[in-house]
Amino acid sequence: MSTMLPEETKRRLLILDDDLAVGQTIGFVAEELGFEVKSFTLPEPFFRAVDAWQPTHIAIDLVMPEMDGVEAMRVLAERNCAAKIIITSGVGSRVLDSARRTAAALGLRDVCVMPKPFSMTELRQLLSTEPVPRAIPPTKEDRASSAFEVTSVGLLDALEQRQFLLAYQPKVDCVTGALAGFEALARWVPSPPTVVMPDRFVPVAESSGLIDALTEQLFEQGLRWLSESFPSSSISLSLNISAKGLADVHLGERLSELCHVLTIDPARVTFELTESSAMDDPVKSLALLTRLRMKGFQLSIDDFGTGFSSMVQLVRLPFSEIKVDKSFVMTAMGSHEALTVVKSIIDLGKGLGLRVVAEGVEDAKTLDLIASLGCDFAQGYFIARPMSGEAATAWAANHGI
Ligand code: C2E
Ligand code: CA
Ligand code: CA
Repeated sequence: MSTMLPEETKRRLLILDDDLAVGQTIGFVAEELGFEVKSFTLPEPFFRAVDAWQPTHIAIDLVMPEMDGVEAMRVLAERNCAAKIIITSGVGSRVLDSARRTAAALGLRDVCVMPKPFSMTELRQLLSTEPVPRAIPPTKEDRASSAFEVTSVGLLDALEQRQFLLAYQPKVDCVTGALAGFEALARWVPSPPTVVMPDRFVPVAESSGLIDALTEQLFEQGLRWLSESFPSSSISLSLNISAKGLADVHLGERLSELCHVLTIDPARVTFELTESSAMDDPVKSLALLTRLRMKGFQLSIDDFGTGFSSMVQLVRLPFSEIKVDKSFVMTAMGSHEALTVVKSIIDLGKGLGLRVVAEGVEDAKTLDLIASLGCDFAQGYFIARPMSGEAATAWAANHGI
């Protein structure tokens, strides 16, 4: 009986290494394991083969004269590459580790590193594991968004037609799993089923002076949803605030008034602002943020770990919550460096008496890990994806609220 795999399931390894001998060595070992192998020393034919040959595995050198490995990974991510990727290099474990984190942040899910010089056993082991199916395939939203053109005129029209909607993602207690609240995330629905994601339209709204109008519309929508869906509970709502929105000195008063009309205790409302935006102009931020806190709202510092703030500024600004950036949370299980960052941010937050939230929790092991490190709340695809207002209310009902 033949031990060959049927043609369609045969594993195909594609190699990009400017050192021909290294490529050949990897190729020999892979062929012994039953792989079909193609090896290239230059990026151009390599990328042609990615498209035409659809490899199941890719081995790529991080440092090459023609193109660096990080750029190569960006191109692979853009092409939605589903192959298992093995990054090889002699640059040292910290650089390799940050390359792996970059790959994860780019959306490449199945990436491992192999420091050079590597042993044959190590290589065989890496090649013997099957590529994991994309745990979280791109959604219809992700695909639709990238084709839609975003202009300031289009945004103005969309504001008038009220085409911006909020999606709500649950935030749960790390230990008990109890629902604590939701984060509201903006979506632009120009014509169903097209959904444009915020990373595409928020920067355009900011640069064209439309961000305040957008913020206002979304905040009102979110607060109305909260008061209608959870009139008498402590379920909280987190709203994202843009750096540019910090210029609006009357925002606090208007929001306070709206909460009063909707009978929402401001303590149930958290404004999330990114680490870098809070630090752009700390004096102005301090005035506005202090005013919001004095009105009883909560403040969260978002994407913590990605900006370059000094600890002093963090302590001076009146935050009540710190959110560990998802790029560290998503890689904490497999990276010593990411784990150290997650641990340090949790300790820092706890030391300052802040609530700590980890975002980007994509599996049970990561949830256990952050809970064991003392993190208070978790948010991420493992718990639930962002969903419509109705779906979020139903989700809460299924979780005992
Ligand atoms: P963010 O505030 O850091 O929001 C978290 C992002 O991570 C959301 O992306 C969410 O869908 C995604 N996410 C949640 N869980 C996971 C997970 O387990 N894995 C991964 N890979 N991703 C996860 P989204 O909705 O595309 O929003 C992107 C960014 O756009 C937000 O990042 C925020 O900075 C901005 N944004 C969203 N809504 C608003 C808004 O109303 N106003 C402003 N100014 N910015 C907004
Ligand atoms: Ca946020
Ligand atoms: Ca974030």
